[in-house]
Amino acid sequence: MKVIDSTAGLQQHRSLISSRVGFVPTMGNLHLGHISLLDRALKENDDVYFSIFVNPTQFGPGEDFSKYPRTLQDDLKLIEKKASEYPGKGVIVFAPKSPEEIYPSTGIKTVTVPDLKHILEGEFRPTHFDGVTTVVYRLFDLVRPLRSYFGLKDYQQYVIIKQMVQQEKLAVEIIGMPIIREADGLAMSSRNQYLTPDQRRASLILYQSLSTVLKLLNHDLGNLPKARALMKELENDPNWNYLELRDSETLSEDVSRSKQVTILGVYQFGSTRLLDNMQMEIK
Ligand code: AMP
Repeated sequence: MKVIDSTAGLQQHRSLISSRVGFVPTMGNLHLGHISLLDRALKENDDVYFSIFVNPTQFGPGEDFSKYPRTLQDDLKLIEKKASEYPGKGVIVFAPKSPEEIYPSTGIKTVTVPDLKHILEGEFRPTHFDGVTTVVYRLFDLVRPLRSYFGLKDYQQYVIIKQMVQQEKLAVEIIGMPIIREADGLAMSSRNQYLTPDQRRASLILYQSLSTVLKLLNHDLGNLPKARALMKELENDPNWNYLELRDSETLSEDVSRSKQVTILGVYQFGSTRLLDNMQMEIK
């Protein structure tokens, strides 16, 4: 494992590599969800770049940028452990020492995916997805990966990144990876540690609500009215930011011709917003 903390260092390293390069972008504070992305990237590529960068531009005013957990030394241990299972593969951690490494004063292209950035998460975080697409574009430009790995945990982000790749005609394959969950169903997230013990116990409502709606839908759009009625009832709880059923590919509300649907929910505990989603094929 090699750790690089400057853009110049990254560019120099990348210029010496001509093999199949995989890439996993993260904000660090790693858990098994992140490590599952690294594992798949190591299986499918010769060298894997893994970035750890808490990107200021994807946080809005009043959000948790300054208190976002930064645990680089622990993160490196987890990466090293996974890397040791793949001797012969290169693992390069890119942990920029300051935001200026990513955002020099000139020459940065702002990238936006206009159609999808205002819906769902975008209604609550209006500048978030511009921050995400701009930083991922910048990182792709530096790393030039053949494949890049994203968790379906952030489903809207995954759809937006795929759209960005088409829009900007980038030669990178985007691979969506299943959500890794705690034993009781809660999706792993760096933000789970903000929960009090009571909130942690109550957080099960998210996983259970999504599961129950999809069980009612049972792969059949004929059951849509019943499923929607249940969602409406659940949404009487004001702690939901949203609970929505969308087409998996387009995120359109119109699911009448969908082959697969996604239920997306965000439940808020104090200032902590917990995201989750699940997919279901339609027969
Ligand atoms: P983050 O560090 O939160 O920006 O996440 C970095 C990547 O890890 C993103 O592609 C996330 O979707 C993914 N990820 C985060 N949590 C999970 C999880 N529980 N299961 C799978 N992937 C995840």
